[in-house]
Amino acid sequence: MYNPKSMLAEEFISDEEIQATIAYADANKNNMELMDSIIAKAKLRKGLTHREASVLLACENQEKIEEIYDLAEQIKKDLYGNRIVMFAPLYLSNYCVNQCVYCPYHQQNKDIPRKKLTQEEVRAEVVALQNMGHKRLAIEAGEDPVNNPISYILDCIHTIYSVQHKNGAIRRVNVNIAATTVDNYKKLHDAGIGTYILFQETYHKESYEQLHPKGPKHDYAYHTEAMDRAMEAGIDDVGLGVLFGLDKYRYEFAALLMHAEHLEAVHGVGPHTISVPRVKRAADIDPSQFDNGISDEVFCKIAACIRVAVPYTGMIISTRESAELREKIIRLGVSQISGGSRTSVGGYQEEERPHDTEQFDVSDQRTLDEVVNWLMRAGYIPSFCTACYREGRTGDRFMSLCKSGQIVNCCHPNALMTLKEYLMDYASEDTKKLGDKMIEKELDKITNPKVKNIAIERIKSIEKGERDFRF
Ligand code: SAM
Repeated sequence: MYNPKSMLAEEFISDEEIQATIAYADANKNNMELMDSIIAKAKLRKGLTHREASVLLACENQEKIEEIYDLAEQIKKDLYGNRIVMFAPLYLSNYCVNQCVYCPYHQQNKDIPRKKLTQEEVRAEVVALQNMGHKRLAIEAGEDPVNNPISYILDCIHTIYSVQHKNGAIRRVNVNIAATTVDNYKKLHDAGIGTYILFQETYHKESYEQLHPKGPKHDYAYHTEAMDRAMEAGIDDVGLGVLFGLDKYRYEFAALLMHAEHLEAVHGVGPHTISVPRVKRAADIDPSQFDNGISDEVFCKIAACIRVAVPYTGMIISTRESAELREKIIRLGVSQISGGSRTSVGGYQEEERPHDTEQFDVSDQRTLDEVVNWLMRAGYIPSFCTACYREGRTGDRFMSLCKSGQIVNCCHPNALMTLKEYLMDYASEDTKKLGDKMIEKELDKITNPKVKNIAIERIKSIEKGERDFRF
């Protein structure tokens, strides 16, 4: 029985409701009157239900699809401006007791070296990441209670926050580790994490169980209910995601939105971010083994439909995707991207990109400076801002900032100030020139004259060597 307020996975992600949603979307995919009314509702920027959004996703009319794309772009501009938040993943350990069939870290893979960073190595990785200019990390680890217990993850978080190298600092650590207990989520919360990220992989229970044949991750309900435990523990920024390619995308899309609706219904706040990874080639993983791969066109359509359905949720795209695809999809509503990523344990300290412990092939292999340069040429402000979380603007407080339209007087100047720091400390000559011009132009967009003047003064102070300002 479908019930968004239920705390049981199979009731808030009801298979029956998803099947009915797909049937409804199929029956209405040529119903232009309904399509128009849903687009009109989306224009109010108050979001759509999973059923409404699924109708848009089913649309095959090219003209309407373009209309959805334009709306996604407009919503992104209105709510997020032209900022793109930058981050990098940091792989701590590839020890894993699970058997996820799409992941090279699965327990039976005896061909990859198993590695776990010591605290000294974590420090060295963080210095390498700071030297690139990163301020925000997402830590990643396999699930292994012996090799990577929660105490190890907490030690790593502590080490990461403690490293101060030249002007560098990691100011926000997001965490992508396996589903765990309320007690462990409390410990992560107390350690000062940013977002807790957990990909559902697939919402289809039967597929989920087949794709995770053994190990703690096999338990569909425990995994699907993890965000409720995280929120119960006080973590109010959580990040959802589906690994596209594992099951049918329309099923995943409807379920993902139902998960967001559930969080909103129960905790009063939806997901902070949604990630849209696709299965990639890796050590002993061939993505063509999975029957449900999606084309770039469908991928873009999913991104645009997510943007119009949950306008206040950030959307993340990683270096799993090529530079070309990222350029196309960014305009459809992406708000965060990774840059200069290495997906191997200890990869940032190596001169050459190591492949033996990589979790997946990185398609976009450009350096962070190249990504920053490219973003600015495309008209986006690369932002290294971490202010909201440090000012306690998480969960519904962050959402109300978005909804009040104050982004232009808060996130926008923060983006410019953190970009200025990047330009001063890490950028190449060309990127610096480009960035300084961009900052000058973008300062004019700040509507509150008081905020504008403070931003101008602070940017001058950054030039003189001061750091870490925020609104
Ligand atoms: N071990 C934790 C867990 O099980 O949730 C999280 C860390 S795991 C390193 C991060 C994510 O990488 C997984 O949730 C999965 O979606 C993704 N992933 C695994 N194998 C992949 C592949 N071959 N291609 C793309 N993404 C993959």
